[in-house]
Amino acid sequence: MTSAEEQMGHYRSNLRDVEFNLFELFATHDHYGRGPFAPMDLGTARQVLREVERLASGEFADAFVEGDRVPLTLSNGEVTVPAGINRALDAYFGGEWHRLQLPDHLGGYGAPPSLSWACSAMLAGGNAAALMYTAGPFFATIADRLVTDEQRQRWVVPMVERHWGGTMVLTEPDAGSDVGAGRTTAIDAGDGTWHLAGLKRFITNGDFDWPENIVHLVLARPVGPDGLALNGPGTKGLSLYIVPKYWVDADGSLQGRNGAVVTKVEDKMGLKASSTCELTLGEHRPARGVLVGDVHDGIRQMFRVIEYARMLVGTKAMETLSTGYLNALDYARQRVQGADLASAADKTAPRVAIIRHPDVRRMLLEQKAHAEGLRALIFFTASIQDRIRLAEADVGDDDTGLQELAKLNDLLLPLVKGYASEKSYELLAQSLQVLGGSGYCRDYPVEQYLRDAKIDTLYEGTTGIQGMDLFFRKIGRDQGAALAGLLAQIQDLAKGDAGNGELARERALLADALGEVQQMLAAMVGNLSEEGGLYRVGLNTTPFLMSLSELVVGWLLLRSAEVALDALKRAQDPADAAALPDADRAFYEGKVAAARWFAATVLPHLAARRAVLVATDLAAMALDDAAF
Ligand SMILES: Cc1cc2nc3c(=O)[nH]c(=O)nc-3n(C[C@H](O)[C@H](O)[C@H](O)COP(=O)(O)OP(=O)(O)OC[C@H]3O[C@@H](n4cnc5c(N)ncnc54)[C@H](O)[C@@H]3O)c2cc1C
Repeated sequence: MTSAEEQMGHYRSNLRDVEFNLFELFATHDHYGRGPFAPMDLGTARQVLREVERLASGEFADAFVEGDRVPLTLSNGEVTVPAGINRALDAYFGGEWHRLQLPDHLGGYGAPPSLSWACSAMLAGGNAAALMYTAGPFFATIADRLVTDEQRQRWVVPMVERHWGGTMVLTEPDAGSDVGAGRTTAIDAGDGTWHLAGLKRFITNGDFDWPENIVHLVLARPVGPDGLALNGPGTKGLSLYIVPKYWVDADGSLQGRNGAVVTKVEDKMGLKASSTCELTLGEHRPARGVLVGDVHDGIRQMFRVIEYARMLVGTKAMETLSTGYLNALDYARQRVQGADLASAADKTAPRVAIIRHPDVRRMLLEQKAHAEGLRALIFFTASIQDRIRLAEADVGDDDTGLQELAKLNDLLLPLVKGYASEKSYELLAQSLQVLGGSGYCRDYPVEQYLRDAKIDTLYEGTTGIQGMDLFFRKIGRDQGAALAGLLAQIQDLAKGDAGNGELARERALLADALGEVQQMLAAMVGNLSEEGGLYRVGLNTTPFLMSLSELVVGWLLLRSAEVALDALKRAQDPADAAALPDADRAFYEGKVAAARWFAATVLPHLAARRAVLVATDLAAMALDDAAF
């Protein structure tokens, strides 16, 4: 790496594309100044984005390599993280950036989800582990909707004001994807508290040395004195408890150590700076907790946290791919190797930068189209979340009702989480490929990106679980109503005249892809009533998730191209021409190219996937386990 690159740091943000999505494509600034977003305006939003970009490229990015190389340590249940991570947290909380995600009554700035996700994306790109340590105040906003007034003052307000850490505690050694298999118990202590006992595994932020306290949101099974489950087996029998690291008295003072203790820190492939902990509850002293909201409704309550976490994972995955691509692009512009293919036979031909080689251009465009397409998917989803908040506050002028918006958001989350994480990991390998052997070495950040990104396909529900969630819950539960609404919008663009006649071929490809997805869906729904059909569906939920995601991303990229073509067309007007700087012209041309690339090279694969899906037989299920 040159010293200029070292000074520049690893993270390549793409604020131009963030602003394009927020203010040109989805016009999220139209949401500012109203209801919960009354304090926000466009000028403030732009300033926030710039300052957060500085933080992401500064203190956050500075701790990226150190977090990978300096191991976390565990001693007496206390985890120490690398110093740079704590400096990043000092800068984040010192700048009061946690307030971006807070509602007004908890001291928020009135930032809509679209703006706060834009900030989270950049911080995740700079240092995802550091960002995850900041989750406490956001978990507080979720708890805020569920707790009693007394609980709010005792737990939620200090989580925000005193910057406590927060965790979500579901997983156990025998309860991973199958959360309902959890065996951790909770017994009513008769004094308003519960005593929890059990072993939790893989808990992010289980302990770290920055905050004075950590609040664990724990799923456990309430049992009676006889040890029998009060509410039965499975997820429905689980309740949600607030279990702190240090107990807190009614006056807010911190008491002694509670019996929720980290007994192991995982040694992982990547994301090493993030503490992933085994949490032992009630082994040497009681693990005291309070029942959230005084109701046994754990899984439904925890789902709000899970939804947030899934959006965060998709956002992290997208931004990691984006910075991976931009690092690869920088390298491809500088690395000189070989002659132009057209002059390859001429041994005296000048050597060219590798960006001139067709195969490298193919890899770069593949990454660009996906990174920007995923950004559009995430900001589309975030813009729906803005509209939900406006509708909840009854200040929206939306044609679409609250229920419909909420269902659309639900439908999009498995795409955000499942598709973004899979494509990010797959295409970061291509970012690395562009760097050749150098990419395999630690002088460049891409090998760490790849290791850090793999987790995104696993936690918060594996890709397999996302595929099943999409088909059985998000589509099945409302008989496909939310999906039909989304597909109708895609159909409108495909059949319309977007792009001043310049996107006709791409719109036709989109229409074909839409037809393929509709056929896939019809085949899977048909399978449900056939003998063994459920297995045929189960063999295809993940391919269907990928196919629907590609259709939606293809659609959003074409919408982006339409906006870009309009901007380019306006610039042809002699009166306006001077107003479009070269950088903007290149940006818009790149947008159109990315959309065209995606339509021409990604969408046609849906036909093959449909053919495979429709022809699925039960051979995979009939095969004896021993024959694998
Ligand atoms: C770094 C890290 C951080 C984490 N952070 C947290 C945290 O903060 N809080 C928390 O509670 N948990 C956390 N987890 C746990 C994480 O959510 C689980 O690892 C994940 O849900 C998968 O569970 P599992 O590892 O037990 O895999 P398993 O459930 O054993 O799955 C193994 C494989 O089988 C597949 N599979 C399982 N069941 C089915 C099924 N019914 N149908 C089809 N396929 C299936 C899966 O898709 C997967 O491919 C974390 C994990 C890691 C590694």
